[in-house]
Amino acid sequence: MKQKTIAILGATGSIGTQALDLVRRYPDRFSAACLTANSSSEKLFALVREFRPQAAGMVCEPEAIPEDLRFCQWFFGPDCSVEVLKAVKPDAALCAITGIAGLDAVWTALDVCSQVLLANKEALVTGGDLVMEKARRLNKPLLPVDSEHSAIFQCLQAAQGNPVRSLLLTASGGALRDWPKEKIDSARVEDVLRHPTWSMGRKITVDCASMVNKGLEIIEAHHLFHMPAEQIQVVVHPQSIIHSMVEFEDGAVLAQLGNPDMRGPIGYAMAYPQRLPYEAKRLSFAEIANLSFAAPDLTRFPALGYAIEALKAGGAMPIVLNGANEEAVAAFLDGRIPFGRIPEILRDALDRVPQRSVSSIADVYQTDADARACALEFIRRNS
Ligand code: NDP
Ligand code: MG
Repeated sequence: MKQKTIAILGATGSIGTQALDLVRRYPDRFSAACLTANSSSEKLFALVREFRPQAAGMVCEPEAIPEDLRFCQWFFGPDCSVEVLKAVKPDAALCAITGIAGLDAVWTALDVCSQVLLANKEALVTGGDLVMEKARRLNKPLLPVDSEHSAIFQCLQAAQGNPVRSLLLTASGGALRDWPKEKIDSARVEDVLRHPTWSMGRKITVDCASMVNKGLEIIEAHHLFHMPAEQIQVVVHPQSIIHSMVEFEDGAVLAQLGNPDMRGPIGYAMAYPQRLPYEAKRLSFAEIANLSFAAPDLTRFPALGYAIEALKAGGAMPIVLNGANEEAVAAFLDGRIPFGRIPEILRDALDRVPQRSVSSIADVYQTDADARACALEFIRRNS
């Protein structure tokens, strides 16, 4: 079997380190050809020492590169992920940077790699139409890493050309699932970061608690599977055992199940169409005993409704939602705003940033800048 070279962009993060755990377990199948990070220099140095990539990069340039790590090419600055891809041209890129900061890397990966393994959902939320059009034009597969989208992708293998009636995205409900509205509004950072079933980066964990994450995932599913908003539903499923489902026209619903372990969907994307003989903890139905389901509560989690509205409005609105949310989450994590302000910031940005058509990546960045300015202004006015 030919060894697949993979760029791990966002190597020091939750997705990046779990992907590298798979590279470590299957050295004959994969090599980590490029590794990048934002500022975690010590972590990145340790990974470069272990995985010996051809190129590495960091947004924040460290004071010095250790002597024994000068065997690979180094790139610094905000374009480092784009530069490692261009220098090495690996077979695949695992795009696991958080936020719109990862969009350029996804764009370049489509040019230089044969496959793009996509964790960075914000790249599709913001650049969706342009990214999907480019992937189609260049005939490059965009393989989902997000667990819900991986589940849907796996269920769709059984479609055999039959039309799909709806996609059902499951949601754990996040750390505040059962909290009353008044308590949610004043939830502390440590409450919000206590996710019930998954251990992930801080930004996505906050998004889970506000249910913005599920909204971003509806937009991601719309792009990946060409489904209108009306045919995508959210089902709250606290155990995170069913990762998502697909309903067909005869009423049959196919689901993909597994214990919550991101190495499942990451490995599926890395080895596709094969499955890694990875020793995941097996599902024990007797142990699980019960799976439960509920409709999402848009009164306590209004931001989910705003995301659906943004998708239906189209054009600039998903970018506005994402940009305002990135600013709102950063402000919450820094203690500048209470948790309850997050949906208010999104509402205000969707109401005040003008709609426009988006026909280039430059339009995406302009809209993102407008949304961020609007969100920052709202934060200043209300603090
Ligand atoms: P983390 O915060 O754990 O990791 C983010 C990674 O990206 C870190 O390695 C960080 O480096 C790096 N990074 C940040 N900005 C840049 C940049 N501009 N250039 C290069 N590297 C950068 O996030 P997660 O791993 O949790 O999430 C990554 C993406 O995957 C997100 O879009 C998220 O929504 C998605 N995702 C994550 C899941 C999960 O289970 N974690 C599940 C499904 C989707 P540094 O360490 O230096 O900050
Ligand atoms: Mg997900």
